[in-house]
Amino acid sequence: MQNYVFVIDKNKQPLNPIPPARARVLLTKGKAAVLRIYPFTLILKHVVDNSAPRPLVIKLDPGSRFTGIAILDQDKVIWAAELEHRGWQIKDSLESRRSLRCSRRNRKTRYRQPRFDNRKRPQGWLPPSLMHRVLTIETWVKRLCLYSPISQIAMELVKFDTQKMQNPEVDGVEYQQGELAGYEVREYLLEKWRRKCAYCDKEGVPLQIEHIHPRSKGGSNRVSNLTLSCERCNTKKGAKSIDEFLKKDPSRLEKIKRQVKQPLKDAAIVNATRLCVFRTLKSILLTTTGTGGQTKYNRTRLGLNKSHWIDAACVGDIETIQLLTQQPLRIKCTGWGTRQMCGTDRYGFATRHRERKQLHFGFKTGDIIKAVVTSGKKVGEYVGRVLCRKAGSFDITTSSGRVAGISYRFCIPIHKKDGYAYGF
Ligand SMILES: [Zn+2]
Repeated sequence: MQNYVFVIDKNKQPLNPIPPARARVLLTKGKAAVLRIYPFTLILKHVVDNSAPRPLVIKLDPGSRFTGIAILDQDKVIWAAELEHRGWQIKDSLESRRSLRCSRRNRKTRYRQPRFDNRKRPQGWLPPSLMHRVLTIETWVKRLCLYSPISQIAMELVKFDTQKMQNPEVDGVEYQQGELAGYEVREYLLEKWRRKCAYCDKEGVPLQIEHIHPRSKGGSNRVSNLTLSCERCNTKKGAKSIDEFLKKDPSRLEKIKRQVKQPLKDAAIVNATRLCVFRTLKSILLTTTGTGGQTKYNRTRLGLNKSHWIDAACVGDIETIQLLTQQPLRIKCTGWGTRQMCGTDRYGFATRHRERKQLHFGFKTGDIIKAVVTSGKKVGEYVGRVLCRKAGSFDITTSSGRVAGISYRFCIPIHKKDGYAYGF
């Protein structure tokens, strides 16, 4: 089962998405034309009175690497996608730029006074790698709102709220700071210690908060001194120190000591970003929120597999859902390319230069095109991303490899470069 097809009428008013079979009928009868391929959208050749379309809900599950997206018509999931972010890629390239500039400053230059504390960040600032997640989600929600009558957004807001704890490991937040903070610390620990007893790996039993360095010996309530254990291990450990308790199991001792030092990086990122995503979405449409626990409960209750788009569909307070699609659109953030005008070899010497002009014969590098070659050595049909050259001889990256030297005259545009790669 495939995603439903978006339809807009002649006046570009969004209509309710239709099943693929109906879309095929509309196309063969000539009543509609293809507006864009990704996401697949039709435009009707006539005006439809659609003053009261059935309102749809878009649901999101923002994650650190993937964001699940699902569009629901009441309890039917009619369209789904998985958006793959490129936060790590952005971080890596900023770091590489930083190290290049750093080394340049220190190479054969006069002394310069250190300048370090001379920049201010606006409130709510997020690093570029995280901001990108917010922005791409915003882009996609706005885009989908153009093609379907979405009236509400639902998103998974929190697993646990580090905002309430600030930076738990760095600031030394303590466990007993009011009920809510305590609850958040508990969720944080559950996530950090993977919902297992730290001493015997038992799962699915009630876990207690355990002081690694015992309270009676002056151990603090700080998050960095806490772990989780089952009741048996907790009693057994009692007031012993961890070195004493795990004398016979040095490998586990080593492991726990290592894990204590690692703050929960991934989840902290997600939470900082999620709040920003929520604020952004709220400014677009009415937004409701759910929690991670609720999502998981819904998913297991309905007996569904774990995947990002199904998680998204399970967000919030739901009775039941029906999957009318099994094939989410996979969207991968690729970025718009580079601004670098001069390529270097691996030693940093300039070797090649790029032209400022990007558009050649109506095509840009990165467009998806179809080439039907009717003459010459390369007769055939090729579909893929194009690499454009000034001379008009293009390369096409197809699924079976790269074809070089195709003339622009054979090319038909399919989808313009928009910073995303698509697949199913
Ligand atoms: Zn245990």
